[in-house]
Amino acid sequence: MDLIKKVAGYLTSSRDVVALTGAGISVESGIPPFRGKGGVWERFDPMEYASIQAFEKDPAKVWRVLLSELKKVVDRAEPNNAHKGLAKLEKIGILKTIITQNVDGLHQKAGNTDVIEFHGNFAWHRCMNCDHRTDTQSLMLDQIPPTCDCGGIFRPECVFFGEMIPPEAMWRSRHVASNCDIMLVVGTSANVEPAAYMPVLAKKSGAKIIEINTETTPLTGHISDHILLGRAGEIMDILITEVKNLSQLEPAID
Ligand code: NAD
Ligand code: ZN
Repeated sequence: MDLIKKVAGYLTSSRDVVALTGAGISVESGIPPFRGKGGVWERFDPMEYASIQAFEKDPAKVWRVLLSELKKVVDRAEPNNAHKGLAKLEKIGILKTIITQNVDGLHQKAGNTDVIEFHGNFAWHRCMNCDHRTDTQSLMLDQIPPTCDCGGIFRPECVFFGEMIPPEAMWRSRHVASNCDIMLVVGTSANVEPAAYMPVLAKKSGAKIIEINTETTPLTGHISDHILLGRAGEIMDILITEVKNLSQLEPAID
């Protein structure tokens, strides 16, 4: 509790906070992470299905095992208190930008306006033959893999393992990471490069690094200054209450 108060103090005295988020922030919205406990990924190795090589070799298999499951959960997911808390921090002028590794679109749904989608997004699909785009909600899965009128196969606009990070996302992330004074690292194991490098870059540039995670990570203890251990939604709730108390901005952030 004292540590949360201390972190709330850092946040209220900063005006350039950046958040880096990973799959863990969406767990309380019902979207399972790849690593760790829960859901379909205990039965399958996602790395085997989430690579571009796997998709090109057998798109039907990747659609059946990974993408149709992801579409089901993402279609019905709603932002949880962790997403909403970050939206409140933006609204009161503390948080500037979110760099997310997630593809679920929940930060935008919660109200954040500057979200860098480091691994692309799952909100749109594109025909691999003619580039026709369709939003994911309208994509019919009565045939696997789903195909366009031209006969081409649809793929999500997210980055598979083995593909390049969208260059604009990469350079903007590096820029905001180098210029923030606090980086909140929420629900990421910091194992997937190059996203995992962003807290290192922020640290090198003099920022404080605060993790929120249910477990320690490779950053804990040397890159991060503090870790708030617990579920992101629950921790964020307490943190926002403390920020409200300190900044006495209650009406603006309800
Ligand atoms: P990851 O490396 O970000 O690991 C998940 C982390 O979240 C772990 O450190 C875990 O301890 C932590 N965590 C779990 N539940 C939590 C909670 N309730 N509160 C706070 N922290 C919690 O992610 P990954 O699952 O290894 O995914 C690899 C890649 O695939 C990443 O790019 C990830 O963003 C992407 N992915 C995205 C989604 C999504 O869009 N929601 C879902 C699965 C995977
Ligand atoms: Zn097409």
